[in-house]
Amino acid sequence: MHVRGSAIGGNPSSGELMRLYKLMRRRFGFLDWWPGETKEEVFIGAILTQQTTWKNVEKAIANLRKAKLLSVKGLSDADVSEISTHIRPSGYYRQKAMRLKGACSQIIKNYGSLENLFSLETPDLRETLLNIKGIGPETADSITLYAARKPTFVIDAYTKRIMARAFGTSETASYYELKELFESSLKRDARLYNDFHAQFVELGKNYCKTKPLCADCPVKGMCRYGKRNGA
Ligand code: SF4
Repeated sequence: MHVRGSAIGGNPSSGELMRLYKLMRRRFGFLDWWPGETKEEVFIGAILTQQTTWKNVEKAIANLRKAKLLSVKGLSDADVSEISTHIRPSGYYRQKAMRLKGACSQIIKNYGSLENLFSLETPDLRETLLNIKGIGPETADSITLYAARKPTFVIDAYTKRIMARAFGTSETASYYELKELFESSLKRDARLYNDFHAQFVELGKNYCKTKPLCADCPVKGMCRYGKRNGA
């Protein structure tokens, strides 16, 4: 799908997006997010992190590691009830246990391993992930970028909010419209996409909250909302 930035308002140029990135990076440093020791751990974490904090996911992952179930093969062989017990700290644990078991079984059955699945080209990998029950666009892109390390831009609520405030993009812009805006403006580079998304999360958590803390925000000099409100 190809949608121009102007269709969702704001229409920041590539230069403006890179300026925004560099201002965040200057404040937070290079974050280099590869959350997890192995690709399998990142994959499992991406499913567990839905509707909870990463802190809770870490507890669930520690339990799975202790039970020697922190692998796609291990989870595909385990019972849903056993998985539920270990991932309880991540919330919605019965539903997540079913999703984990279902996703892992599907991968083992169709590809033999996560590594084989990840050898698909980026669009095919995304499409395959999106066809797994319980994996939506944000999770599919997080797995593609952070576990398979392939360039696809992740959009989340922080990205949406910061883009709307900084550049005036529409609050109702869809996931794919925002994704297209970044991917058509920036070079296809997994490391850049990785760090750009991590910077958005850091800015959203620390400054661009529901009630924004514009006065100390590192991007206030180029943010429409910040300037309007005298930051
Ligand atoms: S200046 Fe304010 S509104 Fe703009 S990005 Fe920073 S915290 Fe958000």
